[in-house]
Amino acid sequence: MKTPKYKRILLKLSGEALAGGEENGIQLDIIEKIAKEIKQTYDIGTEIGIVIGGGNIFRGVAGATKGMDRTQSDYMGMLATCINSLALQQALESLDIPTRVQTAIKMEQIAEPYIRRKAMRHLEKGRIVIFAAGIGSPYFTTDTAASLRAMEIEAEVILKATKVDGIYDKDPVLYPDAKLFKDIAYIDVLRKGLKVMDSTAVSLSMDNKLPIVTFNVSKPGNIIKVVQGEEIGTLIHS
Ligand code: UDP
Repeated sequence: MKTPKYKRILLKLSGEALAGGEENGIQLDIIEKIAKEIKQTYDIGTEIGIVIGGGNIFRGVAGATKGMDRTQSDYMGMLATCINSLALQQALESLDIPTRVQTAIKMEQIAEPYIRRKAMRHLEKGRIVIFAAGIGSPYFTTDTAASLRAMEIEAEVILKATKVDGIYDKDPVLYPDAKLFKDIAYIDVLRKGLKVMDSTAVSLSMDNKLPIVTFNVSKPGNIIKVVQGEEIGTLIHS
């Protein structure tokens, strides 16, 4: 068995990943598949924190463009991430993986509040920790939550799961000759306005030299490949 390149990772899943091909909602077969992929990585001894988005249920910006108060709709988005987190917890626990959900907004009947020291202890004890409700503040996204929590738990890398193989010089759907970058500097992601992660998340990672690997999560075995150091996807670094 190969040893993992990274001892502790922060996996960022978008809400969309749980919807499969559908526009909204949670596809239980898809979530089961993702949980099995995570288990492969867990089984080689990797400590795993997970941040999951809520875009399959509700996005604050979408509500605001339709006339909702932005803060109110962002809170709805944060609650959507909690629903996804509970679904993922269930799927992981059905594979016998000890898991804790910690929320940035208190809801103690269903999950622990986010307490960094507790999260670290869980990880050391081999529990996967799912960080829900983003950072608990409106006007942020779960990408930024992923960057922040990754630093707080001293993860060595953020694994940003996407639907495409990584970052291209142009849209691969429109241009078949689009070139996949093996690696790219944070500053170039920001300068070119590449929509791989939001700019707050990229700048926060840049300022703290936290590498990000963006990769295609729909290809089986990709999470463990990244963790074992295979060069797939695009590495964003200094
Ligand atoms: N959100 C927020 N603060 C946070 C994280 C999330 O207000 O710290 C809200 C925001 O409205 C966002 C929604 O929760 O649109 C869902 O998160 P996100 O859009 O990041 O989900 P993803 O695109 O990853 O599915």
